Amino acid sequence: MSYHIDMEDNSTEPEPVLLSKHAKNLLRFLNMLPARMASHDNTRSTIVFFAVCGLDVLNSLNLVPPKMRQDIIDWIYGGLVVPRDNEKRCGGFMGCRAMVPLTENSEVLECMRKYQWGHLAMTYTSIAVLVTLGDDLSRLDRKSIVDGVAAVQRPEGSFSACIDGSEDDMRFVYCAATICHMLDYWGDVDKEAMFQFIEKSLRYDYGFSQELEGEAHGGTTFCALAALQLSGQLDRLHAATLERIKRWLIFRQVDGFQGRPNKPVDTCYSFWIGASLCILNGFELTDYAKNREYILSTQDTLVGGFAKWPQATPDPFHTYLGLCGLAFTGEPGLSAVMPSLNMSMAAYVHLQHLHEVWRSKSNEGKEDHDLTLSSAVQQLKLVEDGEAKATTATTSTSPLISAQ
Ligand SMILES: [Zn+2]
Repeated sequence: MSYHIDMEDNSTEPEPVLLSKHAKNLLRFLNMLPARMASHDNTRSTIVFFAVCGLDVLNSLNLVPPKMRQDIIDWIYGGLVVPRDNEKRCGGFMGCRAMVPLTENSEVLECMRKYQWGHLAMTYTSIAVLVTLGDDLSRLDRKSIVDGVAAVQRPEGSFSACIDGSEDDMRFVYCAATICHMLDYWGDVDKEAMFQFIEKSLRYDYGFSQELEGEAHGGTTFCALAALQLSGQLDRLHAATLERIKRWLIFRQVDGFQGRPNKPVDTCYSFWIGASLCILNGFELTDYAKNREYILSTQDTLVGGFAKWPQATPDPFHTYLGLCGLAFTGEPGLSAVMPSLNMSMAAYVHLQHLHEVWRSKSNEGKEDHDLTLSSAVQQLKLVEDGEAKATTATTSTSPLISAQ
């Protein structure tokens, strides 16, 4: 007697992206942070950014009830620093509320003001969260924020994170560009010096370094390209240079993407390298299936979320950027992502609407609108009929960890 054993290999069946588990995972970070993340308290707005924008890319913002949505908006505004006339240019958002005391004591409040200043990364992520949640940014004084950005620009064109002094490098060049672009106002920011810094950071192998004379890096290359696009200066690079940058980026693919030659692949580089290639209209030259396979190898099938490596602990940073990396490949169930601003195209459409309203109110700033967002505009058409952003106005106790 012989038996037929079905040896058909089903391993080629693509692994599903566990959309609802990822949504629950991100929602959890809006309600409570695990103790192991206590050291991230001073950058809490970035965690809110990854969670809120991740839910948006998952088309799951409906999981955030209207009251909670408004509480997040109010919490974000609670970190806004509005400088007075006689103060240094410290406008922008803080990342946490440790310097916002719960008191009416004017002496204490006055004392604490000395320690309140905007931080470029916190300002970028705070404004992005507001836009993603459908806020109209009407509580912002755009000039004071951009004054704060200009105040931290270095003579060589780079930016520090805050006026009290910090590292200055390409990461904050990117944050400065996103803030000015989102606020549709560049004020005293020196775009020419910014361009010079970025151009000088292009290395011999055609990736960009974080600081002058540094090593080319995938994350930094994204920051450089996105800043150039958002400031309308991408076309200032020679076409042949852009092709060589594209080549350096494409060569970062192993299965997923690495940040530098001979480094291990990491989920977040599916965004940093992927978004860079989207900006250069070269993402279609990558292997989508291999990229997807790697990202999904870091998916936590039990509690949701993505990690940087297989078997590693998932976190909001890699979860959001992994989802964005999948969105670039057209993964079903995910919304389109605007590469240079690192937010959904639906959020970007809302931002474009705000810009139109502001411009109609004042006939100024036309030189700041010369974006070369060809790929973004193409994707924009796909979401023109997308869902309207809710703009509810309710209050309740904060869903976030107590702000003060
Ligand atoms: Zn990473």
